[in-house]
Amino acid sequence: MKTKMCRYCYKPIRDRDELVTASSWFRIRPFHYRCFELVEQDMRTIAGTWTPVNGRAGMGTVIVMVLLSIWMLTTTTLGAIGDLIGVLALYPVLLRVVSFLIFERPLPKYIENKRNDHY
Ligand SMILES: [Zn+2]
Repeated sequence: MKTKMCRYCYKPIRDRDELVTASSWFRIRPFHYRCFELVEQDMRTIAGTWTPVNGRAGMGTVIVMVLLSIWMLTTTTLGAIGDLIGVLALYPVLLRVVSFLIFERPLPKYIENKRNDHY
């Protein structure tokens, strides 16, 4: 699997600055920042939604889910259903970790002087 390839325009992603990883069900795919905006526009017509995993929005979700998960798994709130919620809440956390290991870590953080007309 070519992990540094944008799944929208099929051009290489050069650094983390332009990388957006998004998940849909159990799939996780890398996109350019600008290509993902186009993907989001396409969502209105194509079935299935892509949720961004990395970046600020993704990080907020992870923090909320970790807290929810800890709360549900360490207390008796909602009983067995609470435990189930706790486990399910770990799913976006797991996605975030997978996204980092597979897509973000191999890329340099930022490349200067890259051509912005690449897209
Ligand atoms: Zn692209």
